[in-house]
Amino acid sequence: MSSDKQPGRGTLAVWAGEEEYLMQGATQVPVVHSVSFGYRDVDEWLRVATGEEPGHIYSRNTNPTVAAFEQKIRALEGAEAATSASTGMGIISSTLHAFLSPGDRVVSVKDTYGGTNLLFTEFLPRLNIDVALCDTTDHEAIEAEIAKGCKILYLESPTNPTVKVMDIERLAAAGHRVGVTVIVDNTFATPINQNPLELGADLVLHSATKYLGGHADALGGVICGSRELIDAVYHYREINGATLHPMAAYLLLRGMKTLHLRIRQQNENAMAVARYLESHPAVEQVFYPGLESHPGHAIAKRQMRGFGGMLSFILKGDFDTVKRFLPRLRYAHAAANLGAVETIVGPPATTSHVELTAEERAAAGIPESLIRYSVGIEDIDDLIGDLEGALKNL
Ligand SMILES: *Cc1c(COP(=O)(O)O)cnc(C)c1O
Repeated sequence: MSSDKQPGRGTLAVWAGEEEYLMQGATQVPVVHSVSFGYRDVDEWLRVATGEEPGHIYSRNTNPTVAAFEQKIRALEGAEAATSASTGMGIISSTLHAFLSPGDRVVSVKDTYGGTNLLFTEFLPRLNIDVALCDTTDHEAIEAEIAKGCKILYLESPTNPTVKVMDIERLAAAGHRVGVTVIVDNTFATPINQNPLELGADLVLHSATKYLGGHADALGGVICGSRELIDAVYHYREINGATLHPMAAYLLLRGMKTLHLRIRQQNENAMAVARYLESHPAVEQVFYPGLESHPGHAIAKRQMRGFGGMLSFILKGDFDTVKRFLPRLRYAHAAANLGAVETIVGPPATTSHVELTAEERAAAGIPESLIRYSVGIEDIDDLIGDLEGALKNL
């Protein structure tokens, strides 16, 4: 590149990570459907096998298409290194297992993604790993648990489905005072809106299935951080086998080229939808970090460049009201997914909190008439018109 100036995030989304993987003049990264890789002679093979020379050996370990995907997100998160997995849960599980041993302690919060929460409540305790789950927005309580000592501090902001916001800078500093590795799930924000490493986190991870891919057609997970930490995660994933498929890596890589455009539109659409819903008489409450009424608004304003495309709202009524409302929407898939170009809606009872009983959801502050709304990139007039029609005479 002719200029020394660090390119902007949009330019990185389009260009970063690809050059090394282009072949025979192609302008696009190929899908390398090859299980293994050959060498000119045994000496070259040895150099690659011992890590003396860069190269690929076997696609469970590394693959060129997968590497290009990892390089692009690495650049967007401003990290030294990145590694991937077959799903978001694949990378979260690999990461926790890479660093934790029996007797260790983890501090996290109650509002993490449902699958992550089950790792904390079901699987890690089986290995005699102690997990302290704090109230998500009670920063003093989280700091008190951190001060008792732990190996890992695991954060997620904003959260699912009530988009709670945690002060990453403050909590990362508390973690570092006692030598903790700080991990942030940045799926909801994306690197366009928030860079946890800049706020002091050691590792930032994504379910690439959501916004990074953006088209609801490929699963994947990725984590970024220092070479040393990423090597530890890579080693666990390489041996335990939850490898990202080259075809999925290709779809995610292609999706990421428009990440900045999609997120810009989704930030804008979500703000307009949130304001509209907040003023609607059929809606009891709206959760969106961009609203002044949101308890995490001040923190979000400080640590995010945009408030994201996820919001939720409580309909006046009960679960039957939800059942009547959802089929009336024309421009929204009723589905258990988020972060795609199409708007997606669903109640927590069938999406993020499907594994809880109605009583447990109520105890977690999730009413049955809450609706999670993942705003797409459609024209805002159509989305608001759609909501207006669906909310009329509910
Ligand atoms: C979906 C999601 C995950 C899990 O990702 P998968 O790709 O479905 O395994 C983790 N964290 C958050 C915040 C998510 O939304």
